[in-house]
This record gives sequence, structure tokens and C-alpha cells, in this order.
Amino acid sequence: MTTVSGQKSGGLKLVLFGPPGAGKGTQAQLLRDRLGIEHVASGDLFRHHLSNGTELGEMARDYMNRGALVPDEVTIGMVIDRIGQIGGGEGFMLDGFPRNTNQAQALESALGERGQGIDRVIHIQVADDELIRRLSNRYICRACQRPFTRDAATGAPPERCEDCPDGGDIYQRDDDTPEAVANRLTVYHQETAPVLDFYRERGLLADVAGEGSVEAVNASVLQSLEIAGE
Ligand code: ADP
Ligand code: ZN
Repeated sequence: MTTVSGQKSGGLKLVLFGPPGAGKGTQAQLLRDRLGIEHVASGDLFRHHLSNGTELGEMARDYMNRGALVPDEVTIGMVIDRIGQIGGGEGFMLDGFPRNTNQAQALESALGERGQGIDRVIHIQVADDELIRRLSNRYICRACQRPFTRDAATGAPPERCEDCPDGGDIYQRDDDTPEAVANRLTVYHQETAPVLDFYRERGLLADVAGEGSVEAVNASVLQSLEIAGE
């Protein structure tokens, strides 16, 4: 593998890859603080549209609640537009996109037109039974999207987000129901996992074990980027 310090052009461009519940969002926040690159999460973009009641959001709602992929005609444009708003010299990390090989191809073409490309794809690996356990215990801050979990001792989720100045509201996502979770995992294995081969063939894939502590996973992620941890 080439070192990511030999980036293709501009800031570091990463894909955080892995099944729902692998910890992509958590690692993205740590990487953003550390590297100062933008976090572009397709699911967050959709949820933003949903809460603003846009046409795109209305269109995506049913797919999301079922845990199905929103059609590419909608998704690809939305994410590529968002990337286009980021200056050429700045880096970003994608989270939740690409989720099938068609999206991976569209991303490669769009970046290619700008003389850019993805520098590394970090694949966070977690077994299905652990993912199911995590998703059923997951809560999100409505304001900043930070994930939280139930308190180990009391079994209760936190009442307010400690990161948000006015204490963001904590809620459980509609698609973290058992049926939707099962469907999201099936979709991941059938449609999303083939994207791994797409990036493996291009020599961009780094596998990271995702079942350790947040800190341990973060250390492995930084190692995969050849950046020393604390
Ligand atoms: P998770 O990774 O926890 O499943 P996300 O927040 O990434 O959740 O996505 C939530 C939902 O948004 C998905 O189940 C899907 O319906 C939709 N979605 C997000 N990203 C994509 C994408 N790249 N392609 C199609 N649908 C997407
Ligand atoms: Zn918050």
C-alpha cells in the first residue's frame, strides 16, 4: 500500500466503510477533530432533508424506514453536490457512501473530472450479532448526530447531548427497529459488501477490526493512515 501522505491531490479524501453500527460515525468525529477534514454522511444528509420536509426527504423516507437503499438517481446527485461544495484543496471523509458499486463508479468519475481520487478506504469490520446488539442500544443527538448508548449501570440513554451548547435532544432512529436493522444488514451483505472488491482492486482498502474500544479502533484507523496515535 502507498502511504496516504502521498495523497492524490488536495486534502485527504477518505471513505469510511462498514456495516450499519460499525462505528463509522464515532470514528468520523474523532478523525474530524484530529485531521480537520469534513465529514460527509449520506444518512445525515437524508435525515436533514427529512427534518426540513423537502421533496427529496419525502421521497427517501419510506426507503429509510424499511432499511432499504434510496435509489441511486436521488442519492448520487445529493452526495456529489455536497462534495462539490467542499473546496478542491480540502479533504473529506465519506460515511455511508458509496453503498453499491454503481455509486462507487459514479464517485470515481465525479472526482476524476476534478483530477482527484479517494486516498484510502477504511473498512471497519464487526460481526452481525455485535451490530444487532449495538443498534438496538443506539441513541442519537438530533442536533449534532453524535451517537450515544444506554448507560451500562442504569440502562437509560443520556437525556441531553454533552457536546451541544443548548444540550441537544437525544432520540432513537426510526430505522433502528429490529425489522429495519435485519433488512439493513441483508442489504449490506448483498449490495454494499461488493464495493470492497472495487476498492481492493484499486489497492485502496485497509481493514480495521471494529470490535475493540472506541480508542483502540481509533488507533487502528490512524495506523491504517500511517498517522501516529497519541
Ligand atoms: P446506517 O449506516 O446506520 O445504516 P445511515 O445513516 O448511513 O445508516 O443511512 C440510513 C439510511 O439512509 C439507509 O438505510 C438508507 O435508506 C439511506 N442511505 C444512506 N446512504 C445511502 C446510500 N449511499 N445509498 C442509498 N441509500 C442510502
Ligand atoms: Zn449534540
